[in-house]
Amino acid sequence: MGLMSNKKGIIFGVSNKRGIGYAIAKQLFNEGADIAFTYAGETMKSRVLPCAEEMNSKLIMNCDVTNDDDIASVVHEFKRVYGTCDFIIHAVAFANREDLEGDFSNVSREGWQTAMDVSAYSFVAIANKFKPLLNPKASLIALTYLGGERSVPNYNVMGVAKAALEASVRYLALEFGHSEVRVNAISAGPVKTLAAKGISGFDILLKVNAARSPMKRNVTLDEVGKAGLYLCSDLSSGVTGEVHHVDCGYHSIATSKEDAKIIGISA
Ligand code: NAP
Repeated sequence: MGLMSNKKGIIFGVSNKRGIGYAIAKQLFNEGADIAFTYAGETMKSRVLPCAEEMNSKLIMNCDVTNDDDIASVVHEFKRVYGTCDFIIHAVAFANREDLEGDFSNVSREGWQTAMDVSAYSFVAIANKFKPLLNPKASLIALTYLGGERSVPNYNVMGVAKAALEASVRYLALEFGHSEVRVNAISAGPVKTLAAKGISGFDILLKVNAARSPMKRNVTLDEVGKAGLYLCSDLSSGVTGEVHHVDCGYHSIATSKEDAKIIGISA
């Protein structure tokens, strides 16, 4: 019996085998979970299909998370195939490329709304529509990044969206907690994925994180996946409303020896 035996759920935002969504899905599948997958548009279908088929998925559906009808269709089909739901993973984010570089204050109203809609509101909408299907002790997880708590060059409007997402996690945890449904976020350190390529200077972010973090390296996809398993399974039964950092400790430091070197002081 695996940690996720007899549990069925859905993941939004698997892009390919190098994404965080896939890394979490794989850990859940290895522990016996039954997972439904969604993709955003036909181009992504061909990328998501091999991941979903590898995990013997019974449901693979199109879902643009900015479209309420798409979300409603997914809920309808999920209910038809599985009846009830034990976990939801939200690994979706998007901002216009021009809003992920340069001056933050240049963001347009449309760019702000797009980032917020795809990256934060969609988690709330999905939670709301799946509410009637959620079993007691179900677990909802969103993916976030430190740029939602602190300023990070170029992360810009996505940082604002992640801050909204993290606040939403706390409000959903409050709303859903009475039926033992838990809502948490994983704040992953930088990982080179499809979405990450859209962030200007991402390679520098990777190098800085590895140099300054207490563990002196970047987090691996497997490590983020295992954190997903912990938060999805009963191992974390007392944890909700939490932003769990999986970033080799980078979030916990203020200064490091490397900072001293930069300004020419030996620490
Ligand atoms: P990824 O594999 O590219 O995943 C992002 C996913 O979001 C893609 O599957 C993408 O599909 C989907 N998406 C975008 N717009 C959508 C829409 N309107 N409807 C439905 N899906 C949509 O990149 P990732 O880095 O693993 O990202 C997964 C999550 O982890 C995101 O929330 C991200 O912010 C978070 N995260 C990433 C890092 C990192 O360093 N990579 C660190 C911390 C947190 P399309 O490609 O079809 O648009």
